[in-house]
Amino acid sequence: MFGGTFDPIHLGHIQTVAALQKDLKIDQIRWVLSAQPPHREQPQASIEQRLSMLEIALVDFPNMVSDDIEVRRDKASYTIDTLIHFRQSYPEASINLIVGSDIMASFNSWHRYEEILNVANIIVMHRAGYPNDINPVLQDAITEDWSEVIKTAFGNVFVYAAPPVPISATQIRKAIAKASDVQDSLNPDVYEFIQQNHLYVSAKSPEKQTETHENIMIESPVQADFSAAPIQFDSEQQVQMIVESLEDNKALDIKVLNISEVASFADYMVVATGTSSTHLRAISGNTVRELSRKGLKSIGEEGLDSNEWVLADFGDVVVHVMRQEVRELYDLEKLWDPEVRKALAEESKKS
Ligand code: ATP
Repeated sequence: MFGGTFDPIHLGHIQTVAALQKDLKIDQIRWVLSAQPPHREQPQASIEQRLSMLEIALVDFPNMVSDDIEVRRDKASYTIDTLIHFRQSYPEASINLIVGSDIMASFNSWHRYEEILNVANIIVMHRAGYPNDINPVLQDAITEDWSEVIKTAFGNVFVYAAPPVPISATQIRKAIAKASDVQDSLNPDVYEFIQQNHLYVSAKSPEKQTETHENIMIESPVQADFSAAPIQFDSEQQVQMIVESLEDNKALDIKVLNISEVASFADYMVVATGTSSTHLRAISGNTVRELSRKGLKSIGEEGLDSNEWVLADFGDVVVHVMRQEVRELYDLEKLWDPEVRKALAEESKKS
């Protein structure tokens, strides 16, 4: 199983997975389309468009199959659920989850990640431009002999040194938006499909604008990224990145409070509203993951079990995402309004 957003599928996917299938002699690879990626921004192309591109790109590969199992589910869809489904269909088979090495840093934040090796093996495929470290939670399962792994149904981690193909979907989308040529990075028929459907020509597609929070899917929050060195962003840059991510994840009523003069624990507080407990966790989890990928690491998340609020701490900026009722109750905007704080401080000095 090779899962992804495939927004769009590109030669980085195809060439590495084709090499892997040939070298490891894998009977069939199922390309499972994610409705909403657990660890990414919302896709720009629609599910149907991404599925069409998958099908077009895989036409020449009889032993690679596109699979829409996750996008057909009407509830949150996780990798573990898909693997269990495959396990039920093929009780004895060696089932292998293929992942690019870029997802290793956040693997231990995936939903029920501990169960994945009880159902499948994991093949970590090198991805050009990313560290090839294996997440510590998988270290003990590493097996270097593929002939052993392929004989087992589940439980092993195998590292595959894929040929480096430094292409990314994000770069392709950005290049198209800037009218740069991306032909070399795509299957020619996928390229034509993108052109015919005017995909990625602007930053936000109509689907993206009409997407609702119910569609946002999450895995659980990312832990500290153990592999990549953090990049330094000043607090204003952090605020900008956070607000953009909150907006992308459909957070409502986003307010930024400059608390640098009245608090020692952070420079800014960002408050936003989520419409359900799932939405709260999606907003916070996706924001933490997206920013981690951009080099802005969070120190931690709190409140994930509360169903009412989530706090994501980025050091200089603290983000509170709350249900509307809870937001009204705490009224952080008022509590941390610099003017109100100063007035309170004055009052307490007098008394
Ligand atoms: P982005 O550019 O936004 O990172 P992506 O190219 O990673 O997107 P996805 O569809 O999310 O696209 O990726 C699906 C899987 O493919 C992931 O496991 C990812 O690690 C892997 N992958 C993507 N590009 C490459 C590549 N060039 N080489 C190896 N693996 C890749």
